[in-house]
Amino acid sequence: MLDRSTTWPFEDGEPGAFYYQRYGHPAGQEAERVLGELEGGRALLFPSGAGATTALVLALLEPGKTIALARDAYYGTSVLFRELARWGLRFVEYDQTGAPPDDADLVWVEAPSNPLLTMPDLDATAAHPAPVVCDSTAATPVHLRPLERGCDFALHSATKYLGGHSDLLLGAVVCKRDEDYGRLLEFRGRSGIVAPPDSAWLLLRSLRTLELRVRRQTETARELAERLRRHAAVETVRYPGFGGLLSFDVAGGERAARRVETATRRIANATSLGGVSTSMEQRGRWEGNRVPPGLLRLSVGLEPVDDLWADLEQALSA
Ligand code: PLP
Repeated sequence: MLDRSTTWPFEDGEPGAFYYQRYGHPAGQEAERVLGELEGGRALLFPSGAGATTALVLALLEPGKTIALARDAYYGTSVLFRELARWGLRFVEYDQTGAPPDDADLVWVEAPSNPLLTMPDLDATAAHPAPVVCDSTAATPVHLRPLERGCDFALHSATKYLGGHSDLLLGAVVCKRDEDYGRLLEFRGRSGIVAPPDSAWLLLRSLRTLELRVRRQTETARELAERLRRHAAVETVRYPGFGGLLSFDVAGGERAARRVETATRRIANATSLGGVSTSMEQRGRWEGNRVPPGLLRLSVGLEPVDDLWADLEQALSA
């Protein structure tokens, strides 16, 4: 399955299923087949989640078009759209718990949002005439299948839960309609925003355990969210009831949050999310005042819940 060839011989003088890596390779195609089945659509891999976002908006839109972006979507998505504004793509931010603005040409929601954990109103987005993209990185197809809820595209940073082992960087778009899939496939081949075979092979390995990992992470995250809610040093806990991602605010703002994140022993003080090892970070360092200064984002891994709680408890009282 892991074939790193960049070129394959023609068959009877004509290109066969694989002929040049930029247009497709065996591990990529197989990972796309498996992910497409999980999401109920046709999947395409990209070299990162941000790469998937770039390819999708460039393939679908043109200068002068407007994206309605969920205000609390992953901050890197708004940074990227701001960058693309130089090319004439406009974006407006809105509250995804309500209906998107009327004049949008593309609606972009995130389920649940990172790191504020709000859920989009998927019925209101489905009622909007524009195509809808749902970044469901944190939900995963274990908890949400956006294409069944009226979305036209499901997008993933596969770097996170789909990959799950913090050893691959990939993105994916799953399309509901064949014509969208065809357009995006064509754009991907032309633009060269393509995923490498090694990462695709690692993703295939990871997808075999996706459900097991995510169900366990959900179980542990639920329990930790409850215990955090009862802790005197914690002001707010945000957890939508499923998935391995949660965030909470500690009293005392940024200084207190920095003290907690550096006091853990078992929980890594690191960025990113979705891996088998639990990690935590104060998000204001990246996002400034988009988030409360005392906000800590916790990505729950596969360690025993009591070990994680013991670590959190000692860090909160450090
Ligand atoms: N979408 C969400 C919800 C994310 O959390 C991230 C990364 O943190 C991305 C997209 C971008 O993905 P990548 O880092 O794979 O480019």
